[in-house]
Amino acid sequence: MLIDSYNRVIDYIRVSVTSRCNFRCLYCMPNTPFEWEPKENVLSYEEMFEFLRLAIDEGVKKIRLTGGEPLLRKDLDKFIKMLYNYKHSLDLALTTNGYYLKEEAKKLKQAGLKRVNISLDSLKPEVAAKIAQKDVLQKVIEGIDEAIKVGLKVKLNTVVMGGINDSEILNLLEYARKKGVTIRFIEFMENERAYPGIKSVRSNEILNKIAKKYNFKELPKDNSASRYFQTDEGYVFGVIEPHSDDFCKSCNRIRLTAEGYLIPCLFFNESYNIKEAIREGDIQKAAEILREVVKNKPEKNDWQEEEVSTRAFWETGG
Ligand code: SAM
Repeated sequence: MLIDSYNRVIDYIRVSVTSRCNFRCLYCMPNTPFEWEPKENVLSYEEMFEFLRLAIDEGVKKIRLTGGEPLLRKDLDKFIKMLYNYKHSLDLALTTNGYYLKEEAKKLKQAGLKRVNISLDSLKPEVAAKIAQKDVLQKVIEGIDEAIKVGLKVKLNTVVMGGINDSEILNLLEYARKKGVTIRFIEFMENERAYPGIKSVRSNEILNKIAKKYNFKELPKDNSASRYFQTDEGYVFGVIEPHSDDFCKSCNRIRLTAEGYLIPCLFFNESYNIKEAIREGDIQKAAEILREVVKNKPEKNDWQEEEVSTRAFWETGG
């Protein structure tokens, strides 16, 4: 079992399979990066699998594939199948912008994917287009419908930005409720790559807007990054509040980037690379790096002091 120095059990890895993305969301990648990582620096699925097998043997139970946009990488379903075949009980999840889900959802489900989180930042085509800098809404909505249809467990994620989409919180909540899926409202996390001047909306403001129409009570906290609430009618929604002091207490995750960096924390600049060890077939060394990363996982993220991250979300996978 992987246990860090603060007694947190690390049983969850988020894997960014590619840094590339087909959206240019204002809060994440508003400008195309100057240079993409050359292909030879990116781990192959086989190399990622070698490492993940080790992590699974050490007690990892949940793997979430993310990016960039994970569905831009070819044959993602084959990678999911490799993981599923290794251990059927793995909690296999995906985070996507939904653009290619209509075409891919069925294959992914058949390969062993269980859950999918889909980013949905607006229900107004022009606002969605302003945020993603591309006309995306129709395809995303079709992707959500297809994921539900093929039986994936769906959650929606909305990054709330003052003056951009904060007036849509109730509409988004009601849309999600009608679809029978959970929505989570995420506080925008300030970072150097984001479009300048975006205003984060704190969870208390989000909850106040919802409280204007619905009575709700907080549910007991689990070890996910969210706080969940239930309306009197029984609908469950969540908020993700990285600005809160409690955010790191229940953190059970580490991150692997497409280039092999193993990152103990989203807002912590230290990282370790497993690529060399994996490419040399030195599993012992990769296992040592994994244990080192877990041991050095910080109690809290650095960002709580600086309030602006230098790391790109499309590299760490958010
Ligand atoms: N392309 C996929 C997507 O759109 O969901 C996966 C990658 S994206 C980096 C993963 C998550 O990070 C998304 O839910 C996105 O909303 C979130 N994210 C990215 N930048 C963020 C920021 N500055 N603040 C809060 N959440 C952010």
